[in-house]
Amino acid sequence: MAEAIDPLDEIHAGLAELDAAGLRRRRRVVTTPCSPDTRLADREQPVTAFCSNDYLGLAAEPALAEAVHRGTERWGVGSGASHLVSGHYAAHEALEARLAAFTGMEDALYFCTGYMANIGVMPALVGRGDAIFADRVNHASLVDGALLSRAELIRYPHCDLAALAARLAASDAPRKLIVTDSVFSMDGDIAPLAELLALAEAHQAWLLVDDAHGFGVLGPQGRGALAHFGLTSPRLILMGTLGKAVGVSGAFVAGQHDVIEWLISKSRSYIFTTGSPPLLADALLTAVDLIEQGDARRAHLAALIARLKNGLRLARWQLLPSDTPIQPVVIGDNHETLAVSRALDAEGLWVPAIRPPTVPKGAARLRITLSAAHSFEQVDRLVETLNRLEATQA
Ligand SMILES: *Cc1c(COP(=O)(O)O)cnc(C)c1O
Repeated sequence: MAEAIDPLDEIHAGLAELDAAGLRRRRRVVTTPCSPDTRLADREQPVTAFCSNDYLGLAAEPALAEAVHRGTERWGVGSGASHLVSGHYAAHEALEARLAAFTGMEDALYFCTGYMANIGVMPALVGRGDAIFADRVNHASLVDGALLSRAELIRYPHCDLAALAARLAASDAPRKLIVTDSVFSMDGDIAPLAELLALAEAHQAWLLVDDAHGFGVLGPQGRGALAHFGLTSPRLILMGTLGKAVGVSGAFVAGQHDVIEWLISKSRSYIFTTGSPPLLADALLTAVDLIEQGDARRAHLAALIARLKNGLRLARWQLLPSDTPIQPVVIGDNHETLAVSRALDAEGLWVPAIRPPTVPKGAARLRITLSAAHSFEQVDRLVETLNRLEATQA
């Protein structure tokens, strides 16, 4: 018989191992609203943050705060129950209709979070004996959704269409689901969605697109990655999040009317949870208006991205090729990446060090994210500091 392990001893030892490997996760306490001008509890001086996914600067937008205030007066706070019992309000219904129209889909379903949307949708579409084809660097929530579904998880090398085509052709699974991030969250590049859709159609597969980092940023009026490529198809299922560029919280899934009906009856993370506060759905209607009218914000964001890319002169470190607000600088070693992140912090610049398992081993990186709320001066200071640190850091 194997000797019993003291589970608490194991956790003490496990934490020490994480420390030794530079992999212990720590949270920093923010004391100001989400904005590039940030104050932290552990730091006297303010920092300029390049961390959030608030790409359009809506998270602290006064018009949204006012919408929340109005929503609270109308709805109070809690929803009181799950959507299928008594927690589905007119505000939720209106938001879903607005999101469907905005994305050009037949119907939409509002989830509490993107994580819950992904783990709820995949098991509703495929199960044991079926196959899920997933880009190797997809978001963790898509991996977890695949595991919950019990379908076989077949991963293909990042954006490798030939490899995907070969795996699809070799599979005799009765139901197939291809799943991809639209904008890869730790790399910033955009998936070849038109080609992925062509493969899905050729193999009678679903294509689930996780547009967490595209919705609000890509496409005309920020309608997202599918609009960016002009794609429509009954095979397409779109997941978009509402806590990133949209600045609030939550997520939606959009697709054919009957697909959404199916999810309402089958998606466990939709069914077995309390509906999110209706005041948020109300505020989200205002947020979608701001997204739609947000061309000036998107133009400023694009100019900031160009400024950063044109300014960085890196030799040892690698700025990944990306045209999105996610601009990762790969350093490689966990400890060196942490050291650079700390050196930036000492200069009043907050850029998170992203380490395995979030990214592959040996590919630790600074994940710079830009927001329409940044100024050119702030980006210039980041560029100048990174150029200098790379030249001087041993
Ligand atoms: C953030 C994110 C999610 C999860 O969305 P939440 O609303 O934060 O739970 C899902 N997929 C991707 C690609 C993400 O970046």
